[in-house]
Amino acid sequence: MRTRKAITSTVRFEVFKRDNFMCVYCGRRPPEVELTIDHIIALASGGSDYPENLTTACAECNNGKTDRQVSQSSAASASDAERRLAAAQKRMEMAKELQAKLSLLQRAREIDREVSTANHQLVVRAWREAVRLPEGVPVCRKVKRAISQFIRRLPVEDLIHAASLLSRIQPKGDDGYIRYFCAVCWKKFKAQKPGPNVRGPNESKE
Ligand SMILES: [Zn+2]
Repeated sequence: MRTRKAITSTVRFEVFKRDNFMCVYCGRRPPEVELTIDHIIALASGGSDYPENLTTACAECNNGKTDRQVSQSSAASASDAERRLAAAQKRMEMAKELQAKLSLLQRAREIDREVSTANHQLVVRAWREAVRLPEGVPVCRKVKRAISQFIRRLPVEDLIHAASLLSRIQPKGDDGYIRYFCAVCWKKFKAQKPGPNVRGPNESKE
């Protein structure tokens, strides 16, 4: 097992400075939050202590969800379940309205698909710029799939930001970029306000 070297205060300061003294996952700054150093890829998973693998994170995002967030989230899903039940009963009584709603829903889904496609293209463009992919060279399918995983789960600006962070690293292949991107996105996803029915990317069947 490798021994963990303490990160020097100089390195800590340099990383904080590079990240504008702001948590890269939730965007909060002191004094609202306490800043800590987070390993993008954990030491246990082969991540390094080099600044490219270090990032500024508030204590809360660094440690994962707090008890407070967990209890808020389960209370929210209980009342949400009641609300959905009432909504379902109402729909059963009003079958005609349901028909109209369904066609609206269908249209909403089409629009959602179009927006997602456009957002996906924006993230791919940010990715290309960050990894300096030459003109005419397409991004590989694995990259597109990694972006698709998060496209409906994070605001597009968060995905573009995560892609832009790839300019910090120089991995040997796309896999290194994908791991880094997914690690940032996953932590940004967890830093979002917890809501009902939010599924993690690994639980998706898409
Ligand atoms: Zn944070």
